[in-house]
Amino acid sequence: DNVALSDIEIAQSATLVPVLQMAHDRLGIPAEALEPYGHYKAKIDLGWLDRHPGPLGKLILVTAISPTPAGEGKTTTTVGLGDALNRIGKRTVIALREPSLGPVFGMKGGAAGGGYAQVVPMEDINLHFTGDFNAIALAHNLLAALMDNHIHHGNALGFDLRRITWRRVMDMNDRALRHTVVSLGGAANGFPREDGFDIVVASEVMAIFCLATSRRDLKERLGNIIVGYTREQSPIRARDLQAQGAMAALLKDAIKPNLVQTLENNPAIIHGGPFANIAHGCNTVTATRAALKLGDYVVTEAGFGADLGAEKFVDIKCRKSGLRPDAVVIVATLRALKHHGGVAARDLNTPDLAALARGMANLERHVENVQKRYGLACVVSINHFTSDTQEELDLLRARMDALGVPVVVARHWADGSRGAEELAHIVVRLAESGTSNMQFVYADEDSLWDKMKAIATRVYGAADIGAEATVRAKIEKLQADGYGHYPVCVAKTQYSFSTDPKLRAAPSGHTVNVREVRLAAGAEFVVMICGDIMTMPGLPKDPASARIDVDDEGKISGLF
Ligand code: ADP
Ligand code: MG
Repeated sequence: DNVALSDIEIAQSATLVPVLQMAHDRLGIPAEALEPYGHYKAKIDLGWLDRHPGPLGKLILVTAISPTPAGEGKTTTTVGLGDALNRIGKRTVIALREPSLGPVFGMKGGAAGGGYAQVVPMEDINLHFTGDFNAIALAHNLLAALMDNHIHHGNALGFDLRRITWRRVMDMNDRALRHTVVSLGGAANGFPREDGFDIVVASEVMAIFCLATSRRDLKERLGNIIVGYTREQSPIRARDLQAQGAMAALLKDAIKPNLVQTLENNPAIIHGGPFANIAHGCNTVTATRAALKLGDYVVTEAGFGADLGAEKFVDIKCRKSGLRPDAVVIVATLRALKHHGGVAARDLNTPDLAALARGMANLERHVENVQKRYGLACVVSINHFTSDTQEELDLLRARMDALGVPVVVARHWADGSRGAEELAHIVVRLAESGTSNMQFVYADEDSLWDKMKAIATRVYGAADIGAEATVRAKIEKLQADGYGHYPVCVAKTQYSFSTDPKLRAAPSGHTVNVREVRLAAGAEFVVMICGDIMTMPGLPKDPASARIDVDDEGKISGLF
């Protein structure tokens, strides 16, 4: 009957340890190296982290099969595995992304884990937290305001009003703001032009924030952001507007990693949260490095499936930061594998061996990619649902045995750390074995086109890539302009290896069409947009917000 409680009810019944005490007792962080935000959240001082020598712990990456819209349990597994590693005596810190407010009020709900594998205080983590996203939004919007102000005061830099690339951001799912017109109302209000809003997690400032290795690097990258082009098509940068100093000032505190705890009072660092489509989808480099200094083991999550989040973790985050994972956990659910086998949403709880056998192709391709393309040792962790049957698990095990991959059924959602002990032992064995030898999917010196082709053919199973002449010309211009050494960040659907969300399991032989290309000069990658990507989501007809409330004592309900 434990599992009958909602996520927030479980979270609110947890006994939390004051963060200063937890940090001291578990990680040896002195009080002066922490800035408490209330009793249970604290920012860790960057200077102290710089002086803290290490040694560095082992890095475990949690990724997944191609998900269904409900999510397959990566965050839940990250938390459950972290607790289980601590349970078996390994000093472990988890490193997660901060939730965006958009999904909290929409359909997917919070992003602080679930069941008996959560980070707390979950209400705070899901709503505002320590204000990092607000600071990022302000830094982003300051740059937009400076640009329109510059244009109003004579446009000395020569912005072509039709070639402005810097939009505005807000951390809310609000489709009404996708396309707007600004500066209406006459001469005092500037020059009218088309504009629009993206959600904060889609901001390039967020991507920069997550990849920056120091305050200096942050400022340098912010200055490099391209906000628009002149009529002659020369780029105009944030630096040209002298914006980077003030933007970095707004991020002064945000840049420090946030320390909280799990339901079982183990340390968790939650910091940054870029989209996994038009950005790279993992928490800050600062947070991962901090966690590696503080723990013998670090468990971290990358967004979406192993074709997107894990690929970018390897080819963008690890390439740039020097981080190297020691083992990978691939999360799968029998429900989602049956979905890949063609089963309709309402029938996913019904046993169906034939559908499972078909859908397993999705898992097999992800396993092969992690092992062969990324060169990493992995374990398949089945996030257990009460409807799973033994026959289905046996079938899955048999297919994974053929690939030489360990499979474990993890029950942390229902049982906390106890439910993921076996997973923890396997992860330790893999990480200690030293068999991971991370490889990139492409080399720095490959052309942008060849990088995209390598990802599509080697990871997605595509036969080729294509693009209209105008898009090809734009890619060639970026190459000629000196951006060819940047990694490629693919924006495509997370539901399929192809660019068609309805093509389930493991489609192959398809062509990946690059519809649009964008330069992220501050984040230092080139975004290749393949298919329709939403940078400002909308709310569903029946938004989750209708069930969220706060009582007279300030206690929140209805978050899940
Ligand atoms: P992801 O990180 O892969 O998107 P999450 O870990 O956030 O997925 O899980 C998505 C949702 O599914 C959460 O609300 C969580 O409570 C729920 N969930 C996860 N695992 C289980 C499970 N084993 N049984 C029931 N619900 C689960
Ligand atoms: Mg998640």
